[in-house]
Amino acid sequence: MKTTSNSSLLFILLLVIFSCSWAVSSHEHDDFLQCLSLQSNNHSSISNIVYTPKNSSYLSILNFSIQNLRFESVSTPKPLVIITPVHESQIQPVIYCAKENGMQIRVRSGGHDYEGLSYTSQVPFVIIDLVNLREIKVDVDKKTAWIQAGARLGELYYRIAEKSRTLGFPAGVCPTVGAGGHISGGGYGALIRKYGLAADHVIDARIIDVNGRILDRSSMGEDLFWAIRGGGGASFGVILAWKLELVDVPEKVTVFAIARTLEQNATNIVHRWQYVAN
Ligand SMILES: Cc1cc2nc3c(=O)[nH]c(=O)nc-3n(C[C@H](O)[C@H](O)[C@H](O)COP(=O)(O)OP(=O)(O)OC[C@H]3O[C@@H](n4cnc5c(N)ncnc54)[C@H](O)[C@@H]3O)c2cc1C
Repeated sequence: MKTTSNSSLLFILLLVIFSCSWAVSSHEHDDFLQCLSLQSNNHSSISNIVYTPKNSSYLSILNFSIQNLRFESVSTPKPLVIITPVHESQIQPVIYCAKENGMQIRVRSGGHDYEGLSYTSQVPFVIIDLVNLREIKVDVDKKTAWIQAGARLGELYYRIAEKSRTLGFPAGVCPTVGAGGHISGGGYGALIRKYGLAADHVIDARIIDVNGRILDRSSMGEDLFWAIRGGGGASFGVILAWKLELVDVPEKVTVFAIARTLEQNATNIVHRWQYVAN
């Protein structure tokens, strides 16, 4: 009898704690949404890119680019709001309102972060998901490309190949990795031995800082420009786009695979290969 009343008490206590925390969350998220609506010039356009747990598509938007399925579980902390901007100017109000309401921002490009840092947090947070900012402009004559942070590596390679068979870009091998997280963290792939990291070939960038200012290479200064090419973008702001220097590649590439065990002299083959194929 005593055990039953203890369990009931525990249940009621948990219920109260849960209701309180939900009340705090929804209060924060209401204030945030109100701020967003006040700060945005075009109210109807902002409402089309905002998702809260009340939206039927909230979970599908949240889960669609999560690569580490461990973080798809119900126990993973979820964002109070997800924003999917279609224009750079829609990001500034999010930064302002998140600061006003003490909420953290998680920025997501391709969602390939192994630790889920682009879509989880232990404190109340919102996600800015750049899935709609993925324009790529290739300039063959200048051998450069502007790529928005939400674009995927596969999309970049495809757009370059559409225009030139002798230009490429030295980044990762997985086509769904996002440009925002990948290039700001370095980025290596099949061309690394000849051309180094993706970050080595960034010649300009656009970033929104904590005060909502949009900066390019000259206005952000060389220190910040250095930091975002390897230091991870999320530590410094929201990276909007990269200007990339493309590299020369042969028109024809031969690809082959040879399977050898150590007993079959695999070490010698790898050693020899380094002299013939850079
Ligand atoms: C299947 C798979 C294959 C991979 N293959 C390779 C590979 O071949 N070579 C390689 O080098 N790496 C590879 N990686 C690692 C990958 O490059 C990193 O995980 C990279 O950070 C992913 O970038 P993202 O934009 O997809 O990830 P996200 O999860 O969106 O972001 C990763 C981090 O960057 C931050 N971030 C994202 N976008 C922005 C932005 N616009 N502004 C500021 N901060 C931002 C996020 O907040 C987070 O901290 C692979 C990962 C996976 C899961």
